[in-house]
Amino acid sequence: MAILGRSRIRQRREDRDDAMKKYVLPISLFAIFEAVAVALWLSKGNAFYLFNFTYIGASLALGTALFIRRNKNARRITQLLVGLYMLVYLGLVRGENMQIEGFWYYLFLGVFEAATIHYAVAKIFGPLLFGRGWCGYACWTAMVLDFLPYKIPERPRKTFGWVRYVVFVASLAFVAALFLAPIGNVESVMFWAFIVGNVAYYAIGIATAYALRDNRAFCKYVCPITVFLKPMSYFSLLRITCDHSKCVQCGTCGSVCPMDVDMLDDARSRQNGTECILCLECVRNCPQDAL
Ligand code: SF4
Ligand code: SF4
Ligand code: SF4
Repeated sequence: MAILGRSRIRQRREDRDDAMKKYVLPISLFAIFEAVAVALWLSKGNAFYLFNFTYIGASLALGTALFIRRNKNARRITQLLVGLYMLVYLGLVRGENMQIEGFWYYLFLGVFEAATIHYAVAKIFGPLLFGRGWCGYACWTAMVLDFLPYKIPERPRKTFGWVRYVVFVASLAFVAALFLAPIGNVESVMFWAFIVGNVAYYAIGIATAYALRDNRAFCKYVCPITVFLKPMSYFSLLRITCDHSKCVQCGTCGSVCPMDVDMLDDARSRQNGTECILCLECVRNCPQDAL
């Protein structure tokens, strides 16, 4: 009896170790966000940071765990959990402008809070670690665009990428003008800028998606945040690579990629490499498990 009991305990331990190994990515993700949550909570003395980063870390961990369990809606679930939280709760309820104008605004004020922390973590330094994971799993603009019918681009890529720099400079000029012009209640202006900015992003995003038959046309040509995201994600630790000993060159991965990435080329300088949003559609569809 004692030997049977010991073998059951050993079996349970092995099962638990296997589960830990299988879910190491979601556990690590949650641990990283929890570390940020606790560090900001203690350094700023504000429990909101504990809630905020715990919620986001838990949502991302849930999404990756669901992906490991081969749930085909894993990414979309995470995108909705994080995107709606940021748009509705942080933006509309708490009145924090989390768009690029909000980032410039708090940066000019010299305040490391709200949008500045968000940009530092998700869009400037975070991409060194997780690339454009923000674009695949959290952005509230893409959260809506991904419901449109052109999940895979139906037309060749255009050369309108310069538009992002125009929008980037315009957002900076708008906030600079707010500081230079004698405008009262700038906080209220920033709140309304958040509403108007989002309505404009959705309208332009939907219009360009239909015009170019590509859900992610806005991300490819217009979004000013890519001015930060693209160069930083070039150095990303987390990236899609190909095991060429398994690949049979069937082309399936390229045909399902929403961002036209040449994922068969492992070089950092590969075609559209900084466009990868880590959606894992190529990984999910590869018949050889080569990615
Ligand atoms: S490129 Fe811009 S709009 Fe598209 S997902 Fe990334 S942050 Fe969102
Ligand atoms: S889907 Fe897989 S096997 Fe086919 S080309 Fe891509 S990596 Fe190679
Ligand atoms: S399909 Fe693959 S290469 Fe293309 S964006 Fe998604 S993860 Fe990146």
